[in-house]
Formats: sequence, C-alpha cells, structure tokens
Amino acid sequence: MRIAPLLAALVFCTPVLAGPKDVVRPYPAQKVSADTYVIHGPQGLPSAANQSFMNNPAWIITAEGVVVIDPGSSVQAGRMVMAQLRKTTKKPVTHVFNTHVHGDHWLGNQAVLEVWPNATLIAHPDMIRQAKAGADAFWLDLMSSMTNGYTKGTRAVIPTVEAADGQEFRIGGKTFRIHSSDDAHSKTDLMIRIVEDNILFTGDNVLNRQSMNLRDGTFKGVIKATQRALDLDAKIYVPGHGKTGDRTFVAEQKAYFDILMTEVRRMYDEGKSDFEMKPVLAGKLKAYKNWAEFETNLGPMISLAILEIEQE
Ligand SMILES: [Zn+2]
Repeated sequence: MRIAPLLAALVFCTPVLAGPKDVVRPYPAQKVSADTYVIHGPQGLPSAANQSFMNNPAWIITAEGVVVIDPGSSVQAGRMVMAQLRKTTKKPVTHVFNTHVHGDHWLGNQAVLEVWPNATLIAHPDMIRQAKAGADAFWLDLMSSMTNGYTKGTRAVIPTVEAADGQEFRIGGKTFRIHSSDDAHSKTDLMIRIVEDNILFTGDNVLNRQSMNLRDGTFKGVIKATQRALDLDAKIYVPGHGKTGDRTFVAEQKAYFDILMTEVRRMYDEGKSDFEMKPVLAGKLKAYKNWAEFETNLGPMISLAILEIEQE
C-alpha cells in the first residue's frame, strides 16, 4: 500500500509522449505525376473526428532521395504520411519544405526526423522567426485543443534553412524554385515550383474549392500570389487544401477575390457598413457557396477587405 503515493506521483509526473503506434488512420497517396505523390487530406478545420489531419502532404522522389512538402499537422499525422511514403520508395527523405507557419502544415516535421534524423528542413525566414518567437507553442496548443488532446506528444521541430524568393534548390536532378512573399496567406508563404515537371505547390496561397481564412494575411498579397501562380503557367497545381488540378481552380480563386474586392470597394464608396455588405456579397458570390468554410470566412473577409481599402 505504501507504494501507491509513489505510483500516483509517477503517473502525474510522466510527460505525455506519443507512442510509436500513435498514428492517424491512413489516407491513400495519389500519384499526380511521374515522381510526385500527394495525400489529399479531408477539407475542414482540425478536429477529433479527423484526428488533426486536413492538409495536403506531398513528396517528390528524386535521383538522390525524397523531398517532402508539408508533412502534416502533428506527429501522429506525420507518421501516417511517412508510412504511405515508404510504400512508394525505399529512398531516404533528404529535405522537407514547410510552405508557411500555420501548424497544420509543419507540426508533422517531428515524424520525418523520427525516421530520417538528417533531413534538412527549409522554410521562409519569417516562418522560422515566428515559430521561434512563440508560434510553435501557439500551434501546438491550438492543435491539441481542437482535437481534444489527440495530438499530445507532438513537438515543434522548427526548420533551420531559409529559402528566399527566386532561390533554387537543386536536389537529385530536380530544381525546386522558390516563389515567396511576405504579405500573402500567412505573410510567411513559399510557393515551390519543380521546374523540370512544371508542378507548382502553392501552399495556402491557393486552395481548391475552399474559402480562405485570411486572419494572418492580406488580400492584396494573396491576390498578387494567386496571379503569380497563374503567370507561372504550371501544368499541375497542388493547393494547400483541396484537390490537385490544372489552372482552373487557381483562376476560380482569383475571380472570387476579384468579385469580393470590387464589390466591397463599390459599397464602401457608397458608405455601406460590413453587415449591409454581407447579404449582397453572399448573392454575388453564390457560385462559391458550396466551397468549404465559405460561410465561416465571409464576414471576416469583408472586414479585412474594408480595413485594407481604408489603409490605401
Ligand atoms: Zn492550411
């Protein structure tokens, strides 16, 4: 009986660690071109139901090794991604790109290093800076609370190598060209083009049939980035969320933003307030009403558009 208090103390002092079997349910990888695979996560916010997993992890198999882009939202999601990756190649992961600071895209880094501890992690310099300045704890806490603690055991493994706009990483015979900005979806965004395959990974600057949460970004920047994605004229576009496709969905997002900004500007000039604008915009944007998170993001988008117009 005397051992009981000691046991209790041990139980309460032991940090919660993710066990090796602690992994989200498997999602299939889709081969989107000769050397590139994408797992299209379910669209929506992280939840207990989706076990935190809702982004589009991808990998590119080069002559020397594998390059991973955005391995997911938690160590549990990253482990699922690594298990699917290993079904497609025996080569080691040598590099990981994180498209931006939002945790659904990079908290899976830990799972990559569990298997390949020497992989190089690359991101926007402001992503690295913000992660070190508290965005790491913010996203770990948010992910855990949104999933009722499912992601416990996840640690923030922050990239160490900075990627600049226009920089090219030559890896295993492929060229990864960076198109970055500091005013788009999260102000820490990389778009990555594989030159030889003409594939563009847009990160969350472009989503497919999903309305964007722009609380950390600007319309001005994300519209510019969307146009840049179109100008690059890629054969294949891999969005941060939603299905991979051709330029059609990129042009759809551009049209959506153009309608929204034009209409907000017109009504702002007429002296209308945001709550008067909302029903008008819901009508003008009705072609997009079935997009994921359309309803949730419409109000905040209008407020942001007004703020940006006022700052012009
Ligand atoms: Zn995201």
